[in-house]
Amino acid sequence: MKISSFIGFLRRSLMHLEYRIAQAASLDRQFAPALAVQGPSLLKPSQSESDECGQSTLLDSILWMAAPKKRRTIEVNRCRRRNEHKLIPVKNNIVPCPECGHLKQKHILCGFCYERVHRETALIRGQIQAMEGGPLKNPAVETVVLYESENPGEADGAKRIVETKRKRPSWFNLMS
Ligand SMILES: [Zn+2]
Repeated sequence: MKISSFIGFLRRSLMHLEYRIAQAASLDRQFAPALAVQGPSLLKPSQSESDECGQSTLLDSILWMAAPKKRRTIEVNRCRRRNEHKLIPVKNNIVPCPECGHLKQKHILCGFCYERVHRETALIRGQIQAMEGGPLKNPAVETVVLYESENPGEADGAKRIVETKRKRPSWFNLMS
Protein backbone atom coordinates (compact mmCIF):
# COMPACT_ATOMS: atom_id res chain seq x y z
CA MET A 1 0.00 0.00 0.00
CA LYS A 2 2.78 2.34 0.89
CA ILE A 3 4.58 1.78 -2.41
CA SER A 4 1.44 2.29 -4.47
CA SER A 5 0.60 5.47 -2.65
CA PHE A 6 4.15 6.66 -3.13
CA ILE A 7 3.96 5.93 -6.86
CA GLY A 8 0.69 7.81 -7.06
CA PHE A 9 2.25 10.76 -5.30
CA LEU A 10 5.21 10.64 -7.63
CA ARG A 11 2.97 10.56 -10.69
CA ARG A 12 0.89 13.45 -9.45
CA SER A 13 3.90 15.54 -8.65
CA LEU A 14 5.39 14.77 -12.05
CA MET A 15 2.19 15.78 -13.80
CA HIS A 16 2.11 18.94 -11.78
CA LEU A 17 5.72 19.69 -12.66
CA GLU A 18 4.97 19.03 -16.29
CA TYR A 19 2.03 21.38 -16.18
CA ARG A 20 4.16 24.05 -14.55
CA ILE A 21 6.87 23.65 -17.16
CA ALA A 22 4.27 23.87 -19.93
CA GLN A 23 2.89 27.02 -18.40
CA ALA A 24 6.33 28.54 -18.06
CA ALA A 25 7.14 27.72 -21.65
CA SER A 26 3.72 29.14 -22.66
CA LEU A 27 2.78 25.92 -24.41
CA ASP A 28 -0.66 24.43 -24.65
CA ARG A 29 -1.35 21.98 -21.86
CA GLN A 30 -2.50 19.28 -24.25
CA PHE A 31 0.48 19.72 -26.47
CA ALA A 32 3.04 19.45 -23.74
CA PRO A 33 2.48 15.78 -22.76
CA ALA A 34 1.92 14.94 -26.41
CA LEU A 35 5.33 16.32 -27.14
CA ALA A 36 6.83 14.43 -24.23
CA VAL A 37 5.22 11.13 -25.21
CA GLN A 38 5.59 11.48 -28.92
CA GLY A 39 9.20 12.50 -28.72
CA PRO A 40 10.65 9.02 -28.44
CA SER A 41 7.96 7.55 -30.69
CA LEU A 42 8.90 10.07 -33.36
CA LEU A 43 12.49 8.98 -33.18
CA LYS A 44 11.75 5.28 -32.94
CA PRO A 45 10.52 4.57 -36.49
CA SER A 46 13.69 5.92 -38.04
CA GLN A 47 15.79 3.82 -35.66
CA SER A 48 13.74 0.68 -36.20
CA GLU A 49 13.80 1.23 -39.95
CA SER A 50 17.53 1.60 -39.91
CA ASP A 51 17.79 -1.44 -37.66
CA GLU A 52 15.61 -3.47 -39.98
CA CYS A 53 17.58 -2.37 -42.99
CA GLY A 54 20.82 -3.13 -41.21
CA GLN A 55 19.57 -6.50 -40.03
CA SER A 56 18.34 -7.53 -43.43
CA THR A 57 21.62 -6.63 -45.08
CA LEU A 58 23.52 -8.24 -42.22
CA LEU A 59 21.49 -11.43 -42.45
CA ASP A 60 22.04 -11.51 -46.19
CA SER A 61 25.76 -11.00 -45.83
CA ILE A 62 26.34 -13.61 -43.10
CA LEU A 63 27.07 -17.17 -44.13
CA TRP A 64 25.30 -19.20 -41.50
CA MET A 65 27.28 -22.20 -40.37
CA ALA A 66 25.97 -25.33 -38.74
CA ALA A 67 26.01 -25.04 -34.98
CA PRO A 68 26.45 -27.95 -32.58
CA LYS A 69 23.23 -28.99 -30.91
CA LYS A 70 24.77 -30.61 -27.85
CA ARG A 71 27.81 -29.86 -25.80
CA ARG A 72 30.65 -32.35 -26.12
CA THR A 73 32.30 -33.27 -22.88
CA ILE A 74 35.93 -32.53 -22.17
CA GLU A 75 36.71 -36.27 -22.19
CA VAL A 76 35.32 -36.64 -25.68
CA ASN A 77 37.21 -33.57 -26.88
CA ARG A 78 40.46 -34.74 -25.33
CA CYS A 79 40.09 -38.23 -26.75
CA ARG A 80 39.68 -36.67 -30.17
CA ARG A 81 42.53 -34.19 -29.77
CA ARG A 82 45.02 -36.61 -28.22
CA ASN A 83 44.10 -39.56 -30.33
CA GLU A 84 46.90 -41.89 -31.32
CA HIS A 85 46.58 -41.22 -35.01
CA LYS A 86 47.06 -37.49 -34.38
CA LEU A 87 50.39 -37.94 -32.60
CA ILE A 88 53.61 -37.32 -34.49
CA PRO A 89 55.26 -40.68 -35.13
CA VAL A 90 58.60 -41.36 -33.49
CA LYS A 91 61.46 -41.09 -35.97
CA ASN A 92 64.09 -43.81 -35.87
CA ASN A 93 66.04 -42.66 -38.92
CA ILE A 94 67.91 -39.74 -37.36
CA VAL A 95 71.66 -39.90 -37.91
CA PRO A 96 74.55 -37.44 -37.46
CA CYS A 97 75.61 -35.60 -40.61
CA PRO A 98 78.93 -36.96 -41.92
CA GLU A 99 80.05 -33.41 -42.82
CA CYS A 100 79.12 -31.27 -39.82
CA GLY A 101 77.84 -33.69 -37.20
CA HIS A 102 74.43 -32.12 -36.73
CA LEU A 103 71.55 -34.53 -36.44
CA LYS A 104 69.50 -35.02 -39.57
CA GLN A 105 67.18 -37.51 -41.13
CA LYS A 106 68.90 -40.24 -43.06
CA HIS A 107 67.40 -39.54 -46.47
CA ILE A 108 67.24 -35.74 -46.10
CA LEU A 109 69.86 -33.12 -46.90
CA CYS A 110 71.49 -31.62 -43.83
CA GLY A 111 70.04 -28.18 -43.18
CA PHE A 112 73.25 -26.76 -41.72
CA CYS A 113 75.34 -27.92 -44.65
CA TYR A 114 72.73 -26.61 -47.05
CA GLU A 115 72.88 -23.22 -45.32
CA ARG A 116 76.67 -23.11 -45.74
CA VAL A 117 76.38 -23.93 -49.45
CA HIS A 118 73.66 -21.33 -49.77
CA ARG A 119 75.81 -18.60 -48.21
CA GLU A 120 78.86 -19.48 -50.33
CA THR A 121 76.80 -19.54 -53.51
CA ALA A 122 75.31 -16.17 -52.68
CA LEU A 123 78.81 -14.71 -52.26
CA ILE A 124 79.93 -16.12 -55.60
CA ARG A 125 76.79 -14.86 -57.31
CA GLY A 126 77.36 -11.40 -55.87
CA GLN A 127 80.93 -11.44 -57.13
CA ILE A 128 79.83 -12.45 -60.62
CA GLN A 129 77.27 -9.66 -60.60
CA ALA A 130 79.95 -7.15 -59.60
CA MET A 131 82.31 -8.49 -62.29
CA GLU A 132 79.78 -8.30 -65.10
CA GLY A 133 78.17 -5.09 -63.88
CA GLY A 134 74.60 -6.20 -64.25
CA PRO A 135 72.05 -8.78 -63.31
CA LEU A 136 72.96 -12.42 -63.52
CA LYS A 137 72.53 -13.94 -66.95
CA ASN A 138 72.72 -17.47 -68.15
CA PRO A 139 76.40 -17.73 -69.18
CA ALA A 140 77.36 -19.20 -72.54
CA VAL A 141 80.52 -20.70 -71.08
CA GLU A 142 81.26 -22.76 -68.03
CA THR A 143 82.24 -21.00 -64.81
CA VAL A 144 85.24 -21.91 -62.68
CA VAL A 145 85.59 -20.65 -59.12
CA LEU A 146 89.20 -20.21 -58.02
CA TYR A 147 89.87 -19.73 -54.32
CA GLU A 148 92.99 -18.45 -52.58
CA SER A 149 96.33 -19.70 -53.95
CA GLU A 150 94.78 -21.48 -56.91
CA ASN A 151 95.73 -21.01 -60.54
CA PRO A 152 93.62 -21.70 -63.58
CA GLY A 153 94.45 -24.97 -65.30
CA GLU A 154 94.98 -25.63 -68.98
CA ALA A 155 91.37 -26.58 -69.56
CA ASP A 156 90.06 -23.39 -67.90
CA GLY A 157 91.21 -21.04 -70.65
CA ALA A 158 87.87 -20.58 -72.34
CA LYS A 159 85.85 -20.68 -69.14
CA ARG A 160 84.56 -17.82 -67.07
CA ILE A 161 86.88 -17.55 -64.09
CA VAL A 162 85.70 -16.20 -60.75
CA GLU A 163 88.60 -15.59 -58.38
CA THR A 164 88.04 -15.10 -54.66
CA LYS A 165 90.40 -14.29 -51.82
CA ARG A 166 88.77 -16.78 -49.44
CA LYS A 167 90.04 -20.20 -48.58
CA ARG A 168 88.38 -23.04 -50.39
CA PRO A 169 85.78 -24.75 -48.17
CA SER A 170 86.44 -28.41 -47.54
CA TRP A 171 83.14 -29.44 -49.05
CA PHE A 172 83.54 -27.27 -52.18
CA ASN A 173 85.50 -29.77 -54.23
CA LEU A 174 84.13 -30.92 -57.54
CA MET A 175 87.21 -33.05 -58.42
CA SER A 176 86.84 -35.71 -55.79
ZN1 LIG B 1 75.67 -31.28 -42.12
